[in-house]
Amino acid sequence: MTTAGLIPFDRREGTIWLDGEFVDWKSARIHVLTHGLHYASCVYEGERVYDRKVFRLREHTDRLFRSAEVMDFAIPYPKEQIEAVTERLIAENGIVDGYVRPAAWRGSEMISTAARNSSIHVAVACWRWPSYFDPAARMEGIRMQTAVWRRPPPTSSPHEAKAAGHYMIATLSKHQAERNGYHDALLLDWRGQIAEATSANIFFAKGRTLHTPVPDCFLDGITRKAVIGLARQRGFEVVERAILPSEMVDFDECFITGTAAEVCPVRQIDDCRFRPGDTCKELIEAFSAAVTGEA
Ligand code: PMP
Repeated sequence: MTTAGLIPFDRREGTIWLDGEFVDWKSARIHVLTHGLHYASCVYEGERVYDRKVFRLREHTDRLFRSAEVMDFAIPYPKEQIEAVTERLIAENGIVDGYVRPAAWRGSEMISTAARNSSIHVAVACWRWPSYFDPAARMEGIRMQTAVWRRPPPTSSPHEAKAAGHYMIATLSKHQAERNGYHDALLLDWRGQIAEATSANIFFAKGRTLHTPVPDCFLDGITRKAVIGLARQRGFEVVERAILPSEMVDFDECFITGTAAEVCPVRQIDDCRFRPGDTCKELIEAFSAAVTGEA
């Protein structure tokens, strides 16, 4: 997401749902002494709206609630209400193709490491964000650079949660990659194996076989799972395994997957070049058909 020419998010127009109320966009504010801000006790989702409907809404809602549970708090609304709110916001804000951002965080009762009795706040916002399935533009591919930071072991971070704290090293890594002229960073894990991009999962292709890292220390993306399913339906073999950076030269194609990235070809990682080809094209098309077909 680039900010060039965009109106800052706190100055937009529309309706946001905050703590049970539909409020004017600009008045959806929180206090500076918010636990979620200081201690990263915050979980969130990123969802795509295709033709007025969220792709795999229930999977996202389940993950939001699960992320909160992992972070030791419970979202004080039923899943059905969060989903109904999302649908109403999409309609009220006139979103045809867009993005939804639900978030839940600990409030301001306690500013200390422990905050077990804090109130839990929940918000849902959405905005227009069309998907450009122009295969020609996409097929150019992005350039990535391996980050200095590494995804920590599962004993050091609750990786299955989509939690704010995980994004500290993602932001640092992406800033560094952008400064060096790349589009995104590749994060290795603590073992030195390939993990993921800063907010997307990664796949490599050799012939009709896809290779992707086992999500044992990073987010097992909803798009990742969808693409694995689509690829298998189309006769690709999909192998989930440990992949070392030294293996990258052996692959023909590479792409990343995520709610924001969708299926995005990669043309370069460090000195290693890939040529986005038939596999990327087929999976971009399959994903494009799935997101509109399932909606
Ligand atoms: N990894 C990270 C760190 C992410 O932030 C995301 C985006 N949510 C993904 C992978 C891809 O997940 P999904 O396909 O569910 O969007």
